[in-house]
Amino acid sequence: MAAAAGNWRRTHTCGELRHTDVGKTVTLNGWVAARRNHGGIYFIDLRDRYGLTQVVLDEKLSATVKLGGEYVISVTGPVHARDAANVNPDRETGRIELVAERLEVLSPSRTPAFVIDGDEEVSTETRLKFRYLDLRRSAMQKNLAHRARLISAMRKAFEAQGFIEVETPILTKATPEGARDYLVPSRVHPGEFYALPQSPQIFKQLLMVAGLDKYFQVARCFRDEDLRADRQPEFTQLDMEMSFVEEEDVFAVWEQVMRETWRAAMGLELKLPFPRLRWEEAMERFGVDKPDLRFGLELKDLAPWASTSGFGVFTGALAAGGRVMGLAVPAPHALSRKDITGLEEVAKGLGASGLAYWKAAREGSSGPLARFVPDAASAERLMTLLGAREGDTCLFAAGDQDMVRKVLGELRVQLGKRFSLADKSIQAFAWVTHFPLFEYDKDAGRWFSAHHPFTAPEDWTLGGESADPAQLASRSYDLVYNGWELGSGSVRIHRPDVQERVFQILGITPEERQRKFGFFVEALASGAPPHAGFAMGLDRIVALSLGMDNIREVVAFPKTASAADLMCEAPSPVAPEQLAEVHIRTVVPG
Ligand code: ASP
Repeated sequence: MAAAAGNWRRTHTCGELRHTDVGKTVTLNGWVAARRNHGGIYFIDLRDRYGLTQVVLDEKLSATVKLGGEYVISVTGPVHARDAANVNPDRETGRIELVAERLEVLSPSRTPAFVIDGDEEVSTETRLKFRYLDLRRSAMQKNLAHRARLISAMRKAFEAQGFIEVETPILTKATPEGARDYLVPSRVHPGEFYALPQSPQIFKQLLMVAGLDKYFQVARCFRDEDLRADRQPEFTQLDMEMSFVEEEDVFAVWEQVMRETWRAAMGLELKLPFPRLRWEEAMERFGVDKPDLRFGLELKDLAPWASTSGFGVFTGALAAGGRVMGLAVPAPHALSRKDITGLEEVAKGLGASGLAYWKAAREGSSGPLARFVPDAASAERLMTLLGAREGDTCLFAAGDQDMVRKVLGELRVQLGKRFSLADKSIQAFAWVTHFPLFEYDKDAGRWFSAHHPFTAPEDWTLGGESADPAQLASRSYDLVYNGWELGSGSVRIHRPDVQERVFQILGITPEERQRKFGFFVEALASGAPPHAGFAMGLDRIVALSLGMDNIREVVAFPKTASAADLMCEAPSPVAPEQLAEVHIRTVVPG
């Protein structure tokens, strides 16, 4: 279709024209990505979301307009084939060029803060301050398109299994997920506040009580916590809940969703079912609750050897009810004395008093532990326990079980990275199940839910009246992927009496219970089906599926580590009248 004179609107995109279009007269719209002047003839790279097309401008036409980088223009003219010497095989439009006969500036641009298609590093601050320029880069546009594809594939997969998408409120009451709430003051109810949802947890459970049976939502969640590289104060979850089910039913739904999503968005075929392991087993074998299963380097219990080793630190740890554990770094991966000192610092930072090591050998082993391995039989026994071969470097930790697991778990992760032990071709998903129900917080002097207070206990009697909360397992589960936690869920408490008892163990007073959760317990007493659910952090899965670990790369307008939006400068002070309207007076610490 030829462009009518004066009509600036595009007939094609900048990624569309091919050799077969030669001879057509077309109109393109886009941004001036680059300009080159070859003896009076201008070559422009015109960019839009779909690609780049070369535009040729003769001297006469170029003299009529003033052009700059990132100007938005409209050009019309015939498509020409490029000479063989000028073909750009790296570009899909590289065999043609548009010879401009008409050029119109639709919108000029100030000099951009950085070169959009440039190679030089642009600081994070600059990228975030000028995010609209950052998002003009094709890498960022690809990330967002990938994100949309992945979310769309998930939506389809849930819908195919009969799930209904329901939106839950943003202005609501606090849902306890363990973080601080973002509060919104009410104008019409002086002195009262809404909380932004940390998750749709309570609402999705109420949807089950209502009989919706299978719910999902692409849900925005808000948590006011100290940020880390992979956290944002607002983030998106693929949230779901279903009725008349147990763990395996939820796993089956998600495995299907993940298979279809991976197929559609990544072109990869996942092997189902994903392995399942109880939390206790994950902690014992890997020292962490989100193990990277793409490599071994597992933790081993060394008590049978340590108890007779004659090494006071080890026998002492065991006598005090602690553990002696270790792992064997295979011989090809050499660790120098300096490396081991570095690892020891890591271990000490996590509470270990030191890091003993042993260079495994039946005869002539070395390292500080060698004198406690006096003969070949003892060496053999230790090597068998460690699963070690001749020449492996074995690292040991002794003491309190939590510390020992934490230390060796961290060393395993660091060694895995350092020696690139993970097989990159593997997609290692796994369900980690039966996390503890409660965790004790020494500073607060009370029990907290390890997941959230709506998680069912493994034992519905909660171990009876005199049970030790520390010993109770929950019916919660995480989905882990290559050493990352992708999401969490649980079978829920659908019995009001059990819910009340959990609130009681959490030290929530009857008045507080009534005030915060009265409506919820009442709903549970109004015909609540057994139900279970799960929520996956979408930002993270999108980033990981692109091989990135920073979710900022896949969020259009993210915040900094101090929860600030550098572009629109949020948060920001507001006018006194606005504060008065919502009945707020601020006290800013000096
Ligand atoms: N609401 C939980 C969370 O946000 C997930 C779930 O239990 O479904 O972590």
